[in-house]
Amino acid sequence: MRRAVVLGGSIAGLYAARVLSDHADDVVLLEADDLGEDGTGRGAPQRHQLHALLSMGHTHLERWFPGITDELVAGGARLGTGPEVQFYVDGALKAPVPGLRMLGATRPFIESRVRRRVLALPRVRVLRGRADGLLFGAGRVRGVRYSTTGEATAPSGHEGELEADLVVDAMGRSSRLGTWLLRGGWDHAPLQRMRIDLGYATAVFRRGDELPRTVVAHASPGPASGYQPTLSEPGAMVAVEDDRWMVVLAGYTDHRPGRDPADFLARMRRCVAPLHEVADRCTLLGDVRTFHFQESRRRDFTRLRRFPGGLVAVGDSVASVNPIYGQGLTLAALQASCLSAYLRAGSPAHAPAWDYFRRAGVVVDAAWQLSATADLAQPHVNGPYPRGYRLARWAGDKITEASVIDPEVNRAFMDVVHMRKHPKSLTSPRVLARAARVLSAR
Ligand SMILES: Cc1cc2nc3c(=O)[nH]c(=O)nc-3n(C[C@H](O)[C@H](O)[C@H](O)COP(=O)(O)OP(=O)(O)OC[C@H]3O[C@@H](n4cnc5c(N)ncnc54)[C@H](O)[C@@H]3O)c2cc1C
Repeated sequence: MRRAVVLGGSIAGLYAARVLSDHADDVVLLEADDLGEDGTGRGAPQRHQLHALLSMGHTHLERWFPGITDELVAGGARLGTGPEVQFYVDGALKAPVPGLRMLGATRPFIESRVRRRVLALPRVRVLRGRADGLLFGAGRVRGVRYSTTGEATAPSGHEGELEADLVVDAMGRSSRLGTWLLRGGWDHAPLQRMRIDLGYATAVFRRGDELPRTVVAHASPGPASGYQPTLSEPGAMVAVEDDRWMVVLAGYTDHRPGRDPADFLARMRRCVAPLHEVADRCTLLGDVRTFHFQESRRRDFTRLRRFPGGLVAVGDSVASVNPIYGQGLTLAALQASCLSAYLRAGSPAHAPAWDYFRRAGVVVDAAWQLSATADLAQPHVNGPYPRGYRLARWAGDKITEASVIDPEVNRAFMDVVHMRKHPKSLTSPRVLARAARVLSAR
């Protein structure tokens, strides 16, 4: 392929550019914002919230950027294993999962190292500019229209066109791909939404030697509290670079956390022991930053009958689900791997990428299934209910309960939480039978 253009230079765009550098002579990352070499640029507003990298996401990060874990750790990130990674359900600490590793680092730090690696690739270059629309012709996307947003060589406002064999939409939740497709005489992908009304608040603390054997602590409500955040305070903290703790609190509707530091600390003290301890012993640095996440969304390209060739979509532009489950970065990495498999199979870039969308649809389905089943347990979330929801919810409750007391069920459960396995693996007779045995022996 001669040229691929990736619209959006955040995490999904960076992964896509990495994959495309194996297949195209020229990969252009078109990014509207100045994202900054060191991760201090503007970028997506949620970048400053705590971002957990699931174990599957970490595996793919290392797959695409070998040695990056060592580089991040050398730069101050922590790598948690065994009991350093702590998951609590309804206040009860689960047994550690052998072999599970989680990286402790902020998103801007991870992303800046990924960006550095991608931009060092000989075939990849960045163009500072906003994509304004697609160029269509002969049943395919031929390229993109853009306007520059400030560069020494091309000052803001300069309009241009870029021909490409493949265009990748990585413009995040605000992607206007649907509108552009309609304008070009195509259909847009059906949008599925689930209103969840989630509030997030993140704060950073100076880290000393108060919890030397903790890298990640994560607390969520479960069946014992009826999944009620008001009864079992959800929160998480991660040891990150520059000797800091990053702490996030979450809540729905009226229980959304605010920006008042005293309220934040009071809420941390109602959470599990590690968060309580950080609230008591560590100094809060800077402001509490909030984020309101109204709804989970996904666009299902596999339901379209016709689609132009030369176009794929990745990252939040395809699916953006409840961030509490920490799936976004991992989903972007898995979609990049789907794109790689699609291109390696020799699929012509100018043809509609049905095979890519089918592969990516499987991982999006898995992420959606996990988050939607759990979100529907909230009284204020009222659908849409998927087929078989009651059974899935009942089995999910039982497996969650059993995972607190049994390491084997916990392993199966955490494989799904970390996107290593599809949620349907939890309904295998082996896992269900083990959960039933464990619960009846209580
Ligand atoms: C509060 C919150 C907490 C989260 N926590 C986690 C977590 O713990 N773990 C996890 O894995 N995920 C988490 N996520 C999800 C994660 O942030 C997203 O999945 C991820 O940012 C998606 O990356 P992306 O590249 O698809 O989109 P984005 O990061 O949104 O980037 C889109 C990029 O496209 C650019 N762009 C947009 N329009 C144009 C245009 N017209 N032309 C050129 N460029 C354009 C933007 O400037 C931006 O840089 C969280 C999300 C939220 C909201």
